Amino acid sequence: MNSETILSFDLDDMLMPTFENYQLVREAFVHWVQRKFDAHLSEEEILGAVDNVDEGLIDEYGFDKERSILAFKRGLEELGEEYGFEVSQEDLRQAEEIGRRVYLSEDEYADNGFEEGGKELLEYLKDKDVQMVLLTLGDEEIQRRKIRALGLEKYFDEIKIMEEKSAEEYKEVLDDLGVEPEEVVHAGDSMRHDIIPILKAGGKAIYYNRDTEWSINNEVEDGIDKDRFLEVESLHEAREKLGFLVEEERFDELFGTGNAY
Ligand SMILES: [Mg+2]
Repeated sequence: MNSETILSFDLDDMLMPTFENYQLVREAFVHWVQRKFDAHLSEEEILGAVDNVDEGLIDEYGFDKERSILAFKRGLEELGEEYGFEVSQEDLRQAEEIGRRVYLSEDEYADNGFEEGGKELLEYLKDKDVQMVLLTLGDEEIQRRKIRALGLEKYFDEIKIMEEKSAEEYKEVLDDLGVEPEEVVHAGDSMRHDIIPILKAGGKAIYYNRDTEWSINNEVEDGIDKDRFLEVESLHEAREKLGFLVEEERFDELFGTGNAY
């Protein structure tokens, strides 16, 4: 790899699976509400209430862990009001309890391990002395817990926990690191939080199309610059393509219409 290129990585659902647990928690909430309050409520109605509350809390809470816990609790209150069932303090406590399961303990994160192919990818790049940074979004304490669980410190030159992953914030963070956006290739699974903002900031992107459904985060926006954007469907594929870049020092060929793949 040419020494002026820095690889940056997203964490959640890029290097570590988190989506599947989130889905399990949502399903558990749906089943609990149906069993306890109203068997006729659909999954869509129940999760719609939670997601509505969640959206409304973004301004106040950002990616603080309390946000999603509150979303389940207040979502239950809203469902009670809308569909006319009684919600007790104990019910609210239980809703919160379910919401808390979105976040795992350090041991549980360690047990879940890396995203398929993730460890091999990092080991390979580390072995080739590629400069790497981790740019993750979320609650500081939770993200630190995930980083410790996978022992990620040893792979990365810098680790930053970001607050919103806007183009502006990417620019600020890269500036802090003394890196020009043009020198950065950022790999992530979210169009909204990784790909579009890094391209807007002036960097290049590797989009890991994980085929999961984080709400509407992965709608591809018109006008993204395909010449600075590469899509992969597995981390093995990423390893293969990055291997090409590292071994051959033919980085530019990975991107754009001259793409060898
Ligand atoms: Mg992600």
